[in-house]
Amino acid sequence: TVGALALDGAGSMAAATSTSGLFMKDPGRVGDSPLPGSGFYADSQAGAAAATGLGEDIMKGCLSYEIVRRMREGADPQEACDRAVYPFVETLRRRYGKVGEISLIAIDPVGRFGVATNVDFTFCLAEPDRPASVFSAAPDGQGGTR
Ligand code: ASP
Repeated sequence: TVGALALDGAGSMAAATSTSGLFMKDPGRVGDSPLPGSGFYADSQAGAAAATGLGEDIMKGCLSYEIVRRMREGADPQEACDRAVYPFVETLRRRYGKVGEISLIAIDPVGRFGVATNVDFTFCLAEPDRPASVFSAAPDGQGGTR
């Protein structure tokens, strides 16, 4: 999945995803990527988030919505990612004994960003009048942000 989050000069935010789904998926399977709240979510007054990884697990947590909800309540994007994703990953692990790959990115209305992942994950930040930056995030939540 490719997820993109945008913030324009007037403060409007958008989130988009494009995916081929999972390799060898069942015919008719719908993953998280086309589902608002799961694969992506944007609210110009709160922030935007997008997901990649195992849709069945991402959907169980409505993770893009959960991140934006936390930003609406005042969390910065990194806090929102940390609080929405890592406890939920632990819940899945306890409940099912395993968890798929999950990665999410988020931005807020002033352009701060966050990431949460349980794999090695790379994402890109593009800002006006600056070269794009590439960041790596690590499963322990320690890597990633500048
Ligand atoms: N999230 C996508 C899905 O479950 C797959 C992916 O991100 O690669 O359909």
